[in-house]
Amino acid sequence: MNFSSRLLESAVDEFARLPGVGRKTALRLVLHLLNRPEAEVERFSLSMTSLRSGIRFCKVCHNISDQLVCGICTATRRDRSLVCIVEDIRDVMAIENTNQYQGVYHVLGGVISPMDGIGPSDLNIATLVERVQAGEIKEVILALSATMEGDTTIFYIYKKLKDLPVRISAIARGIAFGGELEYVDEITLGRSIATRVPYESTLMK
Ligand SMILES: [Zn+2]
Repeated sequence: MNFSSRLLESAVDEFARLPGVGRKTALRLVLHLLNRPEAEVERFSLSMTSLRSGIRFCKVCHNISDQLVCGICTATRRDRSLVCIVEDIRDVMAIENTNQYQGVYHVLGGVISPMDGIGPSDLNIATLVERVQAGEIKEVILALSATMEGDTTIFYIYKKLKDLPVRISAIARGIAFGGELEYVDEITLGRSIATRVPYESTLMK
């Protein structure tokens, strides 16, 4: 692509860094912005800058939040004795969309993956153990992807929690979690949480 303006080229370069955006699409987006009122483009760029600098992660569940503790953790109607363990915030969003889950969450921030150099200490597992040790939690639901990494992570968490006074359940593993969750329909997802089974019973098979 030959650009007659370096500013244009630089903007296209930045958009083209985004996942799934090729240079043609990047150019289309940049030209679109150029045609918008200046105030609108400023709002757009301000929103991006403040997103990066202003966003927090809930100190209880590690969900993305504007406050120190997220709205799910602070909601009085939520059942804080029930904790759903998920890989990332997209899973929280998908489960919230079912409107069926009344418990709270714990976001791991990934799964154990030796191939990618991700070990247990890179994930929010220690804080999960601390939450369970604190005693308010009666049941945790393992809702991770049905992949080798998901299985490894689940087994690791199970070993960490099994001697603590908490029920450990797992959702139906046919569901693809971890980003793929957004493709699962809400009824199936809601049902898989409602019909969760004790994790130990899945180990026998
Ligand atoms: Zn939270």
